[in-house]
Amino acid sequence: MMRFSFRISRAAAVLLSDPCFQLRSIQYLLGEGEGEATAADSKHFSLHTYTDYISAEEEQKVEQMLAFLMEESKQAAASTAPTSEDDLCPICYAHSISAVFKPCSHKSCKACINQHLMNNKDCFFCKATITGVDDYIKPASS
Ligand SMILES: [Zn+2]
Ligand SMILES: [Zn+2]
Repeated sequence: MMRFSFRISRAAAVLLSDPCFQLRSIQYLLGEGEGEATAADSKHFSLHTYTDYISAEEEQKVEQMLAFLMEESKQAAASTAPTSEDDLCPICYAHSISAVFKPCSHKSCKACINQHLMNNKDCFFCKATITGVDDYIKPASS
């Protein structure tokens, strides 16, 4: 199917690296919004109604690209998603938890606590004075 695969994946890489990009907007373009269209909305723009201007081949390309993007973003989500929400640093939501504060046992990632401790000594959460930071060892999951 992928005569256009090179061009498509270039475009996909650009689109997926743009944080503003939403698959939904392409789905919307194709008139495939996920059941959100209300009666008032039913005349919303769809490529399918523009076949006078867009050839079947072009329309197919867009649909191929959409399918490709859905697959790409699924894979991207799978590879970057932390093992569980509980492992995410509650301060930055970017790194996994890697430090435990003494004595209160609250947790964050090392980047957050190290930066915080440059100017502060109190826990993010309970304001207890932090006397030390231990490595957080993730409990073995069964
Ligand atoms: Zn963090
Ligand atoms: Zn605390």
